[in-house]
Amino acid sequence: MTVTQPDSLKCANHPARDTYLRCNRCEKPICVECAVLTPIGYRCKECVRSQQKVFETALLQDYVLGIIIAGVLSFIGSLLVRLVGFFVIFLAPAAGWVIAEAVRKVTKRRRGKLLFRLVGISTALGALINLLPILLLLLFGNISLGVLFAIIWPAIYAFIVSSTVYYRLSGIQLK
Ligand SMILES: [Zn+2]
Ligand SMILES: [Zn+2]
Repeated sequence: MTVTQPDSLKCANHPARDTYLRCNRCEKPICVECAVLTPIGYRCKECVRSQQKVFETALLQDYVLGIIIAGVLSFIGSLLVRLVGFFVIFLAPAAGWVIAEAVRKVTKRRRGKLLFRLVGISTALGALINLLPILLLLLFGNISLGVLFAIIWPAIYAFIVSSTVYYRLSGIQLK
C-alpha cells in the first residue's frame, strides 16, 4: 500500500519529480527547476514567455515610422533651440513630450524595448544634425569660446529631448 501525500504534486514537465510549487498564473505544478521567480511570485516558463510577448508588440513598420518621426521632429526642435537659448530647458521636455506622443500615435501604442531605444537614439541624432557644422569646426581645431557656446544649448537639448522621449515611451502606460 502506498501512502500518497494529498498535497504532493508532480511537475508538469518532469513527471518523476514531486513538488509543492504551482505556477501562480496557470496553476500548473512546477518543480524548482521549471519555476521562474517573478516579482509577483513563481511562474512556469511558458507563462513568463507569453507575458513578455505582451510587452513586445512592435511591428517592422513601427520601427521605420517611429525612427523617422522622432528624428524629423527632433531636428525641427533643434532649429528652434537656436532661437530660445537658455529656454531650451523648458522647450526640450515639451519637445520630448510631443515626439513621444507622435511616436505612440504612428505606432498605435505598440511596444518594444528595442523600438524605444532606437527611437531615443534617432531623437538624439535628429537633435545633433544641427551641431554637425560646429563639430566639424572643432575637429579642424577651430576652438573658440564662441564655438563652445554655440554647442552648449543644442547639446543640452539633445540630451534632455532624447531621454524624455525614451522614458516617456518605456514607462508603464496603463492607457
Ligand atoms: Zn503557468
Ligand atoms: Zn520540472
